[in-house]
Amino acid sequence: MKYVRPEIEALKGYVPGYQPRPVEEVIKLNTNENPYPPSPRVIEAIEVQARQGLERYPSPMADSFREQAGEVLGVQPDWILAGNGSDDILTICTRAFVGQGETIRSPYPSYILYRTLAEIQGARIDFARFRDDWSLGDDFATELAESKLRLGVIPNPNSPTGTFIEPEAIYELAQKMSCPLLIDEAYVDFASRSCVELVARDERIMVCRTLSKSYGLAGLRFGYIVAQPHMIAELAKVKDSYNCDALSIAGATAALADQDWLAENRAKILATRKRLVAAMTDLGFEQPESHANFTWNTHPDVSHRTIAEKLADAGIYVRYMDYDDYGDGLRISVGTDRQNELCISKIAEIIAAES
Ligand code: PMP
Repeated sequence: MKYVRPEIEALKGYVPGYQPRPVEEVIKLNTNENPYPPSPRVIEAIEVQARQGLERYPSPMADSFREQAGEVLGVQPDWILAGNGSDDILTICTRAFVGQGETIRSPYPSYILYRTLAEIQGARIDFARFRDDWSLGDDFATELAESKLRLGVIPNPNSPTGTFIEPEAIYELAQKMSCPLLIDEAYVDFASRSCVELVARDERIMVCRTLSKSYGLAGLRFGYIVAQPHMIAELAKVKDSYNCDALSIAGATAALADQDWLAENRAKILATRKRLVAAMTDLGFEQPESHANFTWNTHPDVSHRTIAEKLADAGIYVRYMDYDDYGDGLRISVGTDRQNELCISKIAEIIAAES
């Protein structure tokens, strides 16, 4: 196609997880959504906002959200920038830090969108493999001879594995790097610790989060980044003028205000995760310890692809993932107890039929 930039023509394009419709008729455990509806305060806030009128533009910097998030995180509002989902934040960071021919470093296997974002930019991605204990070694920080390393991105907890790197180890890694390091905390509310305190200690460390998972708001599209104010000011230059709409700002602000809802939801998800891990272990799957609202499952004897396909035939969706030079597996979201039970009993049936 002669009209598009060569980088775009060469691009495969990111393929989001399958979104079957109508969703009420299937069991959907493939994109790590929360199985429970959000806090009722979110719906009320959106209704109030809608009645106040939508004819005016929203706050360009999502001011009410920044204030609320600042209060929850113990930082000033100018340490926060909001985005249309954390994918928007990742796009903003790539635009701001990484030029054509330059490089993003990320761990492997990990979230595949980082690669697409680099490629859209005409930049490259360089992967550093996790070590056997799911930590990262000094090769994550190594400069490249042929291209300037401009941004490191570490999802923590990682996807698809759910594994977690302690903040001290991340801080040490950042000290060995000469570029900014973005910690993608999409799943951090299901872990026990966060890297957010590191942001004040080093201007290059930034943390991004989403409301899609732990707040049950994947449909709202809201994420944010925490960074030092001078970094936020630079990032704000490359975002769309009104990157968050009035309804999502109202909903996201109400969501963060309801920390009791978050604590209660988290407890339910962690209890179901424990049951999911135990049942999958009983079926012969191996799983690294999950600190997220999903688990990464590999079976020594049965084809992961076959299991995913047969589950889909039965209206149960999990995420089959196949990483070049690493291998494949099944990423299963923590749903309700009932959803996970139905998924597990179907997997047991498939394994029995296959072996
Ligand atoms: N980071 C990671 C590691 C993710 O798995 C996801 C979800 N696909 C995102 C960011 C993006 O989430 P959202 O755009 O819904 O905020």
